[in-house]
Amino acid sequence: MKEFELIDKFFRVRSHQRRDVQIGIGDDCAVVNVPQGQSLVVTTDTLVSGVHFPENTPARAVAHKAVAVNLSDLAAMGAEPAWLSLSLCISDVDENWLDEFSLGLQELTDYYSVQLIGGDTVKGPLAVTITAQGFVPRDQALTRSRARPGDWLYVTGTLGDAGLGLDMHQGRADVAPKHRNFLGNRLNYPTPRVLVGTILRRIATSCIDISDGLISDLGHILTSSGCGAQLAVDKLPLSEAMRDSVGAEQAIRYALTAGDDYELLFTVSEEQKGNLDLALTSASVSATCIGQINGVQGKLELRHGKDRYEFEGQGYQHFS
Ligand code: ADP
Ligand code: MG
Repeated sequence: MKEFELIDKFFRVRSHQRRDVQIGIGDDCAVVNVPQGQSLVVTTDTLVSGVHFPENTPARAVAHKAVAVNLSDLAAMGAEPAWLSLSLCISDVDENWLDEFSLGLQELTDYYSVQLIGGDTVKGPLAVTITAQGFVPRDQALTRSRARPGDWLYVTGTLGDAGLGLDMHQGRADVAPKHRNFLGNRLNYPTPRVLVGTILRRIATSCIDISDGLISDLGHILTSSGCGAQLAVDKLPLSEAMRDSVGAEQAIRYALTAGDDYELLFTVSEEQKGNLDLALTSASVSATCIGQINGVQGKLELRHGKDRYEFEGQGYQHFS
């Protein structure tokens, strides 16, 4: 199968079609229209086989994850996703693999109404690079840098599940059969928090998606904002699968340090708390308050109830 036949069969005909795409796959470039009053928000992420996902990961999951991590970055800025480009590096043309891969891509592009508008296909070790573009009303993008002392710290969903899912897959964690599906999906089919991101635009003071683990990503907010934080480890949202599978301390460790959950971590001022609750309820989205920003620059203090929580996780003390 020739390259252009492959692109036609697997990527062009299956993509969701948007009206703001003047020219999509098939020419030298795509031509798209950005709505008036909106800023274009752009992000790229590469997933390399054996590095960012285990080599035996199903093609559908590889596609899902590659798209989801990019949409998650857009969500963290409050952007609504619109277009994707795909650079695909494959060792050979395996039609079954490509079929599964493009179905995984199709599922997410349909669900989020985004269109694949171009890309590149090359031969080499398996790697997937996606560039995602979206819109945010001018001057409303969420950033990491505007958290202020007194702001409350929130996180969506539950934490640590993808990390536990990976350990389960690699035989390092013993998980009851009834939780295996949930944890496997949290690892391979993360849900980008696109709706929450757009809801937070006028409410949150800062936002980031958790790709490297809570402590590490919170560190980015603290560094960029020039603040510190107090974090209540007894408030960390844990799934039933997590609570059933490991002890309390181990669960906290997963929640604090494991990556790949793609939940949103954000800060909200005291005045906006009521608006946040209203907005989350009307969108049927859950978020948990896990701490508060303070003025102690670059320092993260972990607490369990009234006590200090000692934790030897890497780099939690100083971010400055
Ligand atoms: P060029 O040589 O001009 O860069 P290509 O032959 O690489 O063009 O690609 C032809 C068309 O197919 C272009 O519109 C390109 O964006 C698209 N394309 C190539 N690979 C992919 C892919 N993996 N996914 C989506 N579109 C692709
Ligand atoms: Mg060209």
